[in-house]
Amino acid sequence: MISGLISYFSPIAVFESLKSLFTEKRCPVCHAPHSNTKLLCPNCYNKIINESEHDETTKPQDIYFYAPYRGLLRDLIIDWKFNNNFGYSALLSQFAASVAESIPETVRPDITVPVPLHPSRLRKRGFNQSRIIADSVATILGAELSDRALVRNRITIPQAKLSREKRTENLKNAFTAEKSIIAGKTILLVDDVYTTGSTIHECSRTLIEAGAIKVEVLVLAKTLL
Ligand SMILES: [Zn+2]
Repeated sequence: MISGLISYFSPIAVFESLKSLFTEKRCPVCHAPHSNTKLLCPNCYNKIINESEHDETTKPQDIYFYAPYRGLLRDLIIDWKFNNNFGYSALLSQFAASVAESIPETVRPDITVPVPLHPSRLRKRGFNQSRIIADSVATILGAELSDRALVRNRITIPQAKLSREKRTENLKNAFTAEKSIIAGKTILLVDDVYTTGSTIHECSRTLIEAGAIKVEVLVLAKTLL
């Protein structure tokens, strides 16, 4: 009994239990402990994979994306962006990196450009979600990442709150592209989600107008039509 107590409180036992508390891997979604090699536990990982299955014929060829914008992935992205759940950054970067790996070597871009946030919104959120995933994409592609290639001139109303016509108007001339960086280059534009496409289209238009040869798009999740 006494020896039992001694071993229970022995410094080594205390150290071991503390160590397991700090090194035990927990799923960032459901918080269950797990030993999966992925960041997510097997349950959550499979959930995203299953929800990702979609008809290939509905996938547009000019947009690379990880999965449809629905289910668990959609919840994660919303939590990441709007509740500032920065903990999902590594996981979502990993998804973006796996999309980048699927881009054939022959069509890899010269420059990776994240969709910019206005500086005041960046200060509020603390991070630009597009910049975070663009970073992992650029690393995989061995392409330069440029924060200065595209800037947002003014704060725009969140697109989801507007009608289709108002969306185009809302974004008109909202961005400026830096000619000296992008002229004559192929660009991969990176954003977290593609929903109505109006932001991506306005960014692409601005880049092409400033002399980009080609603009392709990579997002984590895309609304399927
Ligand atoms: Zn989980």
